[in-house]
Amino acid sequence: MQINSAEFVVSNSDVSKCPKSKLPEYAFIGRSNVGKSSLINMLTKRKSLAKTSGRPGKTQLINHFLINKNWHLVDLPGYGYARVSKKAKKTFQKFITDYFLNRPQLVCAFVLVDARHEPQKIDLEFMQWLGEKGLPFGIIFTKADKLKPKVLENNIEQYAAKLLETWEEVPPHFITSSSKELGRDEVLNYIEEINTSLE
Ligand code: GDP
Repeated sequence: MQINSAEFVVSNSDVSKCPKSKLPEYAFIGRSNVGKSSLINMLTKRKSLAKTSGRPGKTQLINHFLINKNWHLVDLPGYGYARVSKKAKKTFQKFITDYFLNRPQLVCAFVLVDARHEPQKIDLEFMQWLGEKGLPFGIIFTKADKLKPKVLENNIEQYAAKLLETWEEVPPHFITSSSKELGRDEVLNYIEEINTSLE
């Protein structure tokens, strides 16, 4: 898929205020600092469509972007940021949960995980929850450039093995690096395939 246009539409903290259009949408979510903003900018080839976070945990909003005038890319807040209060975490959880449970336009969520780290409980639990709710998702491994090829391969294998403890098959997954523009075509083509299947 070529990106011909990418426009910011709206930010909000309430799913009922999200765009009313029926366009298919793809949500990007992951732990703070996982490289989500960099990935969104890499995918859309825009330098600062999504704001890279100097201060993790600050972008606590649902951000809609209109891509090629025919689908929405949704930038969701990073989760698992230790420095927000318990109350803030709860509120946050609720509005993200509301988004996932009340957004029929959502066709696929991409859960971002840092390719360098071992499977993290918070990510695995989140994927489990998506599965229980019947929400399709894919996994995007980020920052692949930070690892030697062998180590990267090994990490992905270990991650897959961990997932197979609870899942019958490994969900669709993509290895990316925003600095090296790795995985761009794979992610965009996957989105395009789904869009085409919906037409
Ligand atoms: P976010 O908080 O998930 O939106 O993460 P950011 O996109 O702001 O990235 C967090 C940090 O990781 C920044 O310092 C980025 O420069 C760095 N980063 C993000 N993606 C990559 C990548 O693919 N490769 C490398 N080497 N660094 C990255």
